Amino acid sequence: MTAPDLKSGKTDCCRAGVLLPLPLADAYDYKLSVPARRGQIVAAPLGPRTSIGVVWGDAAGGVAEPRLKQAVPLDGEPALPPGLCDFVDWVAQYTLTLPGMVLAMALRSRQAFEPESARVAYIKGDGLPKKLTPARQRVLDTAADGLARSVPQLAEEANVTPAVVRGLIDCGALIPVDLPEFDPFPRPDPDFSQPVLDTEQDLAAHVMKGAVKAKRFGVSLLDGVTGSGKTETYFEAAAEAVRLGRQVLILLPEIALTVQFLDRFAARFGVRPAEWHSDLSQRERRRVYRAVMSGEARVVVGARSALFLPFKDLGLVIVDEEHEQAYKQEDGAIYHARDMAVVRARIEGCPVVLASATPSLESYVNAKTGRYAHLRLTSRHGAAVLPEVRLIDLRNDRGDPGTFLSPTLRGALATTIEAGEQAMLFLNRRGYAPLTLCESCGHKLVCRNCSAWLVEHRYRKRLVCHHCGYETGLPTECPECHTQGAFTACGPGVERVMEEFKLAFPEVRVAIASSDTMGGPAEMQLAIRAMMKREIDVLIGTQIVAKGHHFPQLTLVGVVDADLGGSDGDLRARERTFQLLHQVAGRAGRAEKPGLVLMQTRNPKDAVMQALIASDRDAFYDQETKYREVTHAPPFGRLAAIILSGHDGDAVRSAGRILAQTAPAARAVKVWGPTPAFYSLLRGQTRERLLVQTEKSVDIQAYLRTWLAAATLPKNVRVVVDVDPVSF
Ligand code: ADP
Ligand code: ZN
Repeated sequence: MTAPDLKSGKTDCCRAGVLLPLPLADAYDYKLSVPARRGQIVAAPLGPRTSIGVVWGDAAGGVAEPRLKQAVPLDGEPALPPGLCDFVDWVAQYTLTLPGMVLAMALRSRQAFEPESARVAYIKGDGLPKKLTPARQRVLDTAADGLARSVPQLAEEANVTPAVVRGLIDCGALIPVDLPEFDPFPRPDPDFSQPVLDTEQDLAAHVMKGAVKAKRFGVSLLDGVTGSGKTETYFEAAAEAVRLGRQVLILLPEIALTVQFLDRFAARFGVRPAEWHSDLSQRERRRVYRAVMSGEARVVVGARSALFLPFKDLGLVIVDEEHEQAYKQEDGAIYHARDMAVVRARIEGCPVVLASATPSLESYVNAKTGRYAHLRLTSRHGAAVLPEVRLIDLRNDRGDPGTFLSPTLRGALATTIEAGEQAMLFLNRRGYAPLTLCESCGHKLVCRNCSAWLVEHRYRKRLVCHHCGYETGLPTECPECHTQGAFTACGPGVERVMEEFKLAFPEVRVAIASSDTMGGPAEMQLAIRAMMKREIDVLIGTQIVAKGHHFPQLTLVGVVDADLGGSDGDLRARERTFQLLHQVAGRAGRAEKPGLVLMQTRNPKDAVMQALIASDRDAFYDQETKYREVTHAPPFGRLAAIILSGHDGDAVRSAGRILAQTAPAARAVKVWGPTPAFYSLLRGQTRERLLVQTEKSVDIQAYLRTWLAAATLPKNVRVVVDVDPVSF
């Protein structure tokens, strides 16, 4: 990773390079009436339209003066902060994404930059135009209801040009009104409710607070067992930044986690922080965006896209559950929010904290080698102890055919429920059954767009593709052998476990939490709340319940299929399985009562299983580290995947071959493939993948750029580069 190129000087008076939030590789030259700084927001004519743009640097030259179009700075718009502009450039160069596309992410809240005309609203006034044309009449009719509307809104609703509206403003037939100001963001109180930290927490907090005070870039890995108080501890570092008047960004992997988190934040700081995620309304977005820009929003809690907010004075970045795969953005610009958080912090010159009970192997290695400060919290806070993990060998401990809860697990559930405690069943599979096949001919029901099985969702009576969303009813006859009603569900999904549980424990209060239960996210939140409030005794869920939640009365966790995910054949599968199972196990026994975790498996000897029962996380990590080292896999080497996709399968495969043949020979670079991608057919598109592996010293971006620029590929094949792919 090289240092960003800092170009924050003023441009010369009459020309500048303006970057538009469009799929463009370069800034375009424009005329400017006044000198502008990098980051200045402008309205830039582009063909028949006007686009928002950002002054990016000096003009490239080459276009003769009279042919240059004029860009107009937006009045009163603060410029994007220099750190954000540098960050956009950095992300674009690292991920091989067009800079304009990355800028588009930074300008997400486009309304924040709408020209003034869109932000002043008008109502009907007393004036009258000299001539009342039908167009003018339509505008006045529209405005007759007394609601305040902007010029573009009026023009659109009345189906007239903005000029017609402006004519009516000039003669006083429409008059401006002040829109109510947004409520300001309340200031978090760093001393509102300070916890008493234990020795390890205090030591970790001390290091992080020191880094915040020093205003220097540096990474800390806050590596603490589940329930050790990582959140409590990094809140102290956040409090320090707030005391110094600086801003804090806290990234969470999933919106589902934020509700509980916001409450916790409020308990510590007296007020809720600003939130940033895709579910915000336009109005909320604009409000948060502007408050982040003005520095008024002190603490922002958000999903990965919050990385692109225009912080005025960023003093600390925290990435919670840093190992989470949800941090990887897989469409548009492909980036890993954890890695980019480190980059943003370095550009802003502030510390960053990565928190996890099961760090990514990359972060673990960086902590071991001393590149990151390794802050460890080794025990649970207070009286809570880590749960005991036991394996259930499904090869000799299983119930009737077609059931998925072993006698041992059923027994433990009964004991727990009788004792008045709560239990959780975990299965990382949505729906009723992952596969439906014809008993007569063995035909499997697959998606028509993807190389994936259709998953039965029995509540909804649908077969669903979890990749493209394709849905269909359950067919009555087999499309292959035409046998009637011979379909059978194979394997368990959470809905099926729920069905079995209800049969076995008809009296017990139970709920299901999966990202696609009938009522959607709201219902899922209800299930989690119900568990928290003890309105239910058992929660059955997918990985959504594995993360972050704190259920004090939960003493038993049953993992229905611990082998899931271990056999993907990709190098990171073991790490992922370990992280997930460890997180699930961490839900048990978080208060006074000790917890028990029962994992059903067919591979009790597996390294992941052994590490889990021995609670020997580091032994597992050290073994994985060695394995990656000998295979030159990340973090010991670099990797990038090139994904080719398109509707024309032959074109895609031939593009793969062309690329493989034209790969430049270079020292310490290996190119594998093309091979069919993990889902070789996805949303109707054929997908092929090439993998580039290099030594750490190689500039993999430069290599890819040279290679891809020289290759001539069919127009109907899409090329996407995924630097540091999650699965390899
Ligand atoms: P982690 O993020 O490591 O899983 P949490 O921060 O959620 O751990 O802490 C687990 C529980 O212990 C929470 O209920 C938290 O409020 C409590 N806790 C942790 N540290 C302290 C402390 N120093 N004082 C009081 N409560 C604490
Ligand atoms: Zn599909």
